[in-house]
Amino acid sequence: MAGGEGAARAMPATSDAGRAVEILRSIYGYAEFRGLQQPIIEHVVAGGDALVLMPTGGGKSLCYQIPALVRPGLGVVVSPLIALMKDQVDALRQAGVRAAHLNSTLSAAAAADVEQAMRQGALDLVYVAPERLVTPRCLDLLGRCRIALFAIDEAHCVSQWGHDFRPEYLQLSVLHERFPAVPRLALTATADGPTRGDILARLKLDEARVFAAGFDRPNIRYRVVAKADAKAQLLRFLAEEHPGDAGIVYCLSRRRVEEVAAWLCERGRVALPYHAGLDAGTRERNQERFLREEGVIIVATVAFGMGIDKPNVRFVAHLDAPKSLEAYYQETGRAGRDGLPADAWMTYGMPDVTALMALLDAAQLDERQRRIERHKLNALLGFCETATCRRQVLLGYFGERDHPPCGNCDNCLRPARVWDGLVAAQKALSAVFRTGQRFGVGHLVDVLRGEVTERVQRFGHDKLKTFGVGTELDKREWQSVFRQLVAQGHLEVDVEGHGGLHLSETAPSVLRGEVPVAFRGDALEPKAGRRRGARGLAPSVLDGAAKPGDEALFAALRARRLELAREQGVPPYVIFHDATLLDMVRRRPRDLAAMSVIPGVGRSKLERYGETFLAIIGGAEG
Ligand code: ADP
Ligand code: ZN
Repeated sequence: MAGGEGAARAMPATSDAGRAVEILRSIYGYAEFRGLQQPIIEHVVAGGDALVLMPTGGGKSLCYQIPALVRPGLGVVVSPLIALMKDQVDALRQAGVRAAHLNSTLSAAAAADVEQAMRQGALDLVYVAPERLVTPRCLDLLGRCRIALFAIDEAHCVSQWGHDFRPEYLQLSVLHERFPAVPRLALTATADGPTRGDILARLKLDEARVFAAGFDRPNIRYRVVAKADAKAQLLRFLAEEHPGDAGIVYCLSRRRVEEVAAWLCERGRVALPYHAGLDAGTRERNQERFLREEGVIIVATVAFGMGIDKPNVRFVAHLDAPKSLEAYYQETGRAGRDGLPADAWMTYGMPDVTALMALLDAAQLDERQRRIERHKLNALLGFCETATCRRQVLLGYFGERDHPPCGNCDNCLRPARVWDGLVAAQKALSAVFRTGQRFGVGHLVDVLRGEVTERVQRFGHDKLKTFGVGTELDKREWQSVFRQLVAQGHLEVDVEGHGGLHLSETAPSVLRGEVPVAFRGDALEPKAGRRRGARGLAPSVLDGAAKPGDEALFAALRARRLELAREQGVPPYVIFHDATLLDMVRRRPRDLAAMSVIPGVGRSKLERYGETFLAIIGGAEG
């Protein structure tokens, strides 16, 4: 760690803006600000309040860390995620910033040391849990420190709208009352209108400037595949595209989480379960291993993920469809924070539609809420079934309607066939009607295809007019037709029975041929258009211009990084990000000067690790 003077303070002090850039380069090792970082930093350095809405991976941390270093005094960061604070502090210390955290995991003695350092002005940044911050004792302590700014991370926790509401956050308005002259920034990746309004009102950020970045995550490739044998499909996806990568697999239920994790382990992957039914110790251990080891897969329910800032999550797979597009965006957003290519991959089929409708049906909601939730579910189903660019649908849902087709989703890469489905729809609907509006898809498909099953005979359905009228489509195609009829609202699922289908209000107009119906053909064998390097480690990031030996060098650099991380008890990515190691592979620096221009190699890391990594690169050159 830097000595008496913080590393930042040692910079030649020109303008504040100049110092911000200087810190970006010397401490973080980055050449330029990204997106809205610069205007945000300038605004806060000048003493303004701000609400920062930026997607995950957008670079929010620098927006408060750099102003905290430029402004005199201590930056106080409020974060709800005690378990992850230490990693954030470790990452800052690696870069030579004087940082500490203050929460219930510290012993009394350790906490007293931090408090003393705060009072003495020996810290640049301190991370504090919200419940601790609002205690009279802590507010008193802060009253005796010089404070550069307050940063309120995960600020959506103040809103009752979202699912992450934390009552402690409501009390943070006290900061405005106690420290009216100290600038405050609230930061979040959740930015729907009501949440945004709540943050501004409840934190009393009346004067704050709102900085909203676009929500696109261009490095994430969205794909939805028709669910056949979901586990086998997942295994193939992992084997072909992510043989050694870390990632998250989301499932709907705890039981399924356990089952899938065990199943992946039997097949040679390191896969750990995470759900609210596990005891806290197990959850913490599994999360730790995910953060600290390479190539670990977490199989989880939605309970997993907030604040996970592991940058090299290379895929997020949904084995079951998520509840809404908000949830989908948030969950998939955990992939590719480092900006390198990452996959959002989902299997989706009729069981998902039924399960989600059953959930909605079982929820205790008033009429208005139920309408909202139904609207959200329809938006999700629309996304899953769309034949157009998935990114356009996703961003459109969040209000960004002018996005061009992205070229990085399944529909852009391999346009889906769209066909006129009126006749098929009429056959399907009439099969539903003539069998009495109580059977599920399996049986209805048998009727349409003229299969003489035991059930068909028992109910006399081989005598119906619709029996055998649908031989032009195979079983899978009919399943897709039924799913899309549900998604388009022409059929409804009877969730209390066993997934039986009945006609909706709009079905008669389809039967009369008054409305057009189009279906997308399922892409059963989605071949990714991405070019891959040789098989092995991380093919998804080392593709394109990979040269012979690159993969081995990347592996050697990663191995050394892991050793260094283990020695110090920190996650590997706080030493160097994958993106930084990849750049070393590409540029093969030969000396410290060349090493210092690699993005992510700041002054402190150059000193600590420059020689070690140069030696490995030199060795690889032979
Ligand atoms: P967020 O908190 O918004 O999810 P982070 O602050 O964790 O995002 O930043 C995401 C990633 O982008 C990190 O790996 C970070 O080091 C990197 N990053 C941030 N700003 C820059 C920049 N100006 N240039 C290069 N990389 C950056
Ligand atoms: Zn697209």
